Amino acid sequence: MNFETLAIKSTQMTDANAGAVASPIYLSTTFERETDGSYAHGYIYARNDNPNRQLLEKSLAVLEAGEVGFAFASGMAATTALFQSFKSGDHIITPDDAYFATNVLIEEIFSHWGLTLTKVDTTDLEAVKNAIQPNTRLIWLETPSNPQLKVSDIAAIADLAHQHGALCAVDNTWATPVLQRPLLLGADIVMHSTTKYFGGHGDVLGGALILKEDGELANKIRTIQKLTGGVPSPFECWLVARGIKTLSLRVKAQTSNAQQLAEYLEQHPAIEAVHYPGLPSHPQYAIAQKQMSQAGAMLSVQVKGDAINAMNVTGKLQLFTTATSLGGVESLIEHRKSVEGPTSPTPDNLLRVSVGLENIEDLIADWAQALQ
Ligand SMILES: *Cc1c(COP(=O)(O)O)cnc(C)c1O
Repeated sequence: MNFETLAIKSTQMTDANAGAVASPIYLSTTFERETDGSYAHGYIYARNDNPNRQLLEKSLAVLEAGEVGFAFASGMAATTALFQSFKSGDHIITPDDAYFATNVLIEEIFSHWGLTLTKVDTTDLEAVKNAIQPNTRLIWLETPSNPQLKVSDIAAIADLAHQHGALCAVDNTWATPVLQRPLLLGADIVMHSTTKYFGGHGDVLGGALILKEDGELANKIRTIQKLTGGVPSPFECWLVARGIKTLSLRVKAQTSNAQQLAEYLEQHPAIEAVHYPGLPSHPQYAIAQKQMSQAGAMLSVQVKGDAINAMNVTGKLQLFTTATSLGGVESLIEHRKSVEGPTSPTPDNLLRVSVGLENIEDLIADWAQALQ
């Protein structure tokens, strides 16, 4: 079956009680035991597992072409669970341009755990190679990256990781499995903030890990998920599962809007630079073409001038709500540096745009008036 069919079918739950077509939400925290102590339905307690989470986890695994999926209460909870599977003395390589909190999580929390970190430009294979140490256990990629839309070569870096006995994980939040499937390119682990495109409507927080193999690492993650309890509620699982049904349709339509907006902005005299992997001018355009079916619905622009000039543009835009986050049906814009703080490497005049499902003519007209 193709992706869209799998998305619909993998999120459908048969309901023996009422024959309901839409999935029920099982709020029960506990499940009945038999006299002999067994659990006839396979569920014990909702932190361990529950019908809505199981449905979501199976769907996530199918859509990312993995053997097993784990749902978490947020993207950061998913990342945390993966880092908790490592031990003191292990070394991790991460991109210098990545979701800001991912690197801060290692620097501020997992440094106490004994994990060490090297941040490199993962678009530079030589730099990645030079950063590998004998104790490197993980190369973390985020591609396209936040907020500069850098594209890293998943197949080449997964290969490099494996040559040195390390794993390769990809934060696939921005591309989604509609456009890019890292496990098929050689990665071992995919991470998602399902808060973004999976949920798709800006009304649910969630995260996920999907593993290529249901082996030793999966067992560790399973234990961490149950014991540390950073799990989503049944309702949150239900919302993400509902989002999955329209994921492909939304991502493709939003991507088409983003591609057109990027092309418009690139030729605009008030714009210094557009960062979008669907433009031939993008430095990793060829790699994006190789590993993504389309370039996605996120882009960043550098407005000519300074931070104030850039922030003024967000004030003039009528259809782009100034807010953080991304991946919802409504277009959002954000001055990223002021969110990440003074230590962030993000340029002062950079605006990050999450392109929504509005009509593209209206979106372009809005930018035309804002840049006047
Ligand atoms: C939002 C985001 C995260 C963090 O996910 P939360 O659901 O907010 O915890 C991680 N990586 C990327 C690329 C993101 O956009």
